[in-house]
Amino acid sequence: MRIKFLGTGSAEGIPAINCDCDHCQRARKEGERLVRGRNAVLFSLPGYELLVDTPPDIRWLLSRYNVRRIDGIFLTHPHHDHTGGMEEFLYWKGNLDLFAETSVYNAVRREAWGDKLPETAFHCAFHPGMPVWFDGFLFTPFAVSHTVSCFGLAIYRGGRRIVYTSDTSNRFSNYARSLMQGSDLLIVNTPRFSPPHTGHITCLEAVELKEQVGAERLIMTHFNHNNLPADELAEWARGLDGVTVAYDGLEIEV
Ligand SMILES: [Zn+2]
Ligand SMILES: [Zn+2]
Repeated sequence: MRIKFLGTGSAEGIPAINCDCDHCQRARKEGERLVRGRNAVLFSLPGYELLVDTPPDIRWLLSRYNVRRIDGIFLTHPHHDHTGGMEEFLYWKGNLDLFAETSVYNAVRREAWGDKLPETAFHCAFHPGMPVWFDGFLFTPFAVSHTVSCFGLAIYRGGRRIVYTSDTSNRFSNYARSLMQGSDLLIVNTPRFSPPHTGHITCLEAVELKEQVGAERLIMTHFNHNNLPADELAEWARGLDGVTVAYDGLEIEV
């Protein structure tokens, strides 16, 4: 399976609007990997392109990376930085499935434009802990602990397992931990480098989590401007075993 990180910034993106911190100033001046669009990941599965989350930047990200095919969208939670771009899909030519837990779907439908949502995509409700089967792969959504209802997913394909936690605090159910246990790849949203950060696990805690669950590899994403700039983060990760810092456009094969 191929995984493409389209956007790797957290709620405000980098640079944040109207922010003059060193990190944002550097991002404006130097561009490249210092700039992060809001969070979206594309999983290329057998016969199915699954987009996880639709940030407000999604139109620009899809056109920047020339993404011409999407079969389904998985919405992790109703925060604006993860769903604010859903309305862009009114202009998508083609049918879309929308995997969203019922409370997440209802929250997005309450948006000003939400009455168009059923026309935009076919709602495929899921229940956490119940696998969604496809021909050749499956995924199991699971609840995580965030400031609103939020769901990660464990993707199973050809004997490999990838677990994406989305936005989560550092508190996990035993069930979620068992899905992560011995996984080939763990992808975790880590806005800040070190604790405390309400509602979110940090980079240092994600590395601990990788060790605890014995995941082969960890990729961190969803960074904010309070975290280290991309080059410093990458330098830090180089000293660790099997840890990668995502950047916009990163593509990997698992
Ligand atoms: Zn977020
Ligand atoms: Zn969130």
